[in-house]
Amino acid sequence: MEISKLGNLQTPGPLYEMAQKQFLKAAELMDLDPRIGNFLLWPQRSLVVHFPVVMDDGRVEIFEGYRVQHNTARGPAKGGIRYHPETNLDEVSSLAFWMTWKCAVVNLPYGGGKGGVRVDPSKLSERELEKLSRRFFSEIHMMVGPAKDIPAPDVNTNAKIMAWYMDTYSMNVGYTTLGVVTGKPLDIGGSEGRPEATGRGVAITSAEACKVKGIDISKATVAIQGFGNVGSFSAKILNEEYGAKIVAVSDVSGGIYNENGLDIDELIKYRDENGGVIKGYPKGTPITNEELLTLDVDILIPAALENAIDDKIAKEVKAKIIIEGANGPTTREAEEILNSKDILIVPDILANAGGVTVSYFEWVQDLQSHFWEIEDIRKKLTKIMIKSFGEVYATKQKYNTDMRTAAYIVAIQRVAEAVKKRGYYP
Ligand code: GLU
Repeated sequence: MEISKLGNLQTPGPLYEMAQKQFLKAAELMDLDPRIGNFLLWPQRSLVVHFPVVMDDGRVEIFEGYRVQHNTARGPAKGGIRYHPETNLDEVSSLAFWMTWKCAVVNLPYGGGKGGVRVDPSKLSERELEKLSRRFFSEIHMMVGPAKDIPAPDVNTNAKIMAWYMDTYSMNVGYTTLGVVTGKPLDIGGSEGRPEATGRGVAITSAEACKVKGIDISKATVAIQGFGNVGSFSAKILNEEYGAKIVAVSDVSGGIYNENGLDIDELIKYRDENGGVIKGYPKGTPITNEELLTLDVDILIPAALENAIDDKIAKEVKAKIIIEGANGPTTREAEEILNSKDILIVPDILANAGGVTVSYFEWVQDLQSHFWEIEDIRKKLTKIMIKSFGEVYATKQKYNTDMRTAAYIVAIQRVAEAVKKRGYYP
């Protein structure tokens, strides 16, 4: 039996198919038992909900949302919830699939999950956003729980929304349940260092990648696509703690370039005072998204959405290292081109795993009602990221393959072992 799309199963869509192909490349190389491989190719559980929200003007609008658990062999499902007008079951299933491997790469006792609501939150009032969030969380109540599935922030969701989720779940069960979501505000079970965690992980893996490539990170130039949570903290930490020069950043409103390096704190302040976007920031030259991705820099960090680097852009990429802050930013065709150009790609499931790692710390603290100092969080995160990078890099060397396939091999080994030892119920 071969590992393949078996029988009458339906793929959630083209993005999921791309993710399956990444998996299959690794599965083949490691000679994975097809009985396990065929199971791991598919999401275990998917829920689609439609629910009403009474808008401020009295209209009742219907929204569509999803929660997908890809696999729970190693523990409860874990993964964020995104709000985006174009999210769909294909995207959420792919993100859930990647969460399984992300958690396993950094060896967290979790499976993979993800959620989403098709909405542009910038078009909602605060009250509408709260009502939508509380109703959505009630709709997926049967899926979530501190021992079942633990959501977290993702694109366009934040600590405030996590607080509403936690409160909604707690009201429904009748007691405060801190461990049902992570990424919460500090005063209600959040963790020190969670907001910066994904960016810190990106910075740590950037430093490790530089060592491998023989680049001095304190002299490195960096371009970052996306200036949300991941992009802005990556920029700040790479600049302040590693001495790298951030020459360009972009967001949905456009990009900015300054060969002498951007002042990240000032840019963050500008963004926060200008409706969350960097458009119009005066200290640099405006550039397009495509120009940013093809700049002659040492490190390129896509930290926005999927499929940002396609084959057309890949041909023009001049960076020596790509650190995937976003999930799924590189298409398969692009990846082949980048690999042939000997560009080191640190894949999403490793590069952005810092976020879920500190989510894990938050959940552990919540379950114990015992909270840690920021220094402990940073130290533990750094240790896990460096160790995981080393394991993936060693696997890359052993199998003579790329970093993504190596990361999958490390992750698949762990999940496959869990599936094998647990056996097939009934
Ligand atoms: N949404 C983040 C990710 O894609 C974090 C998930 C989490 O903390 O559970 O990794």
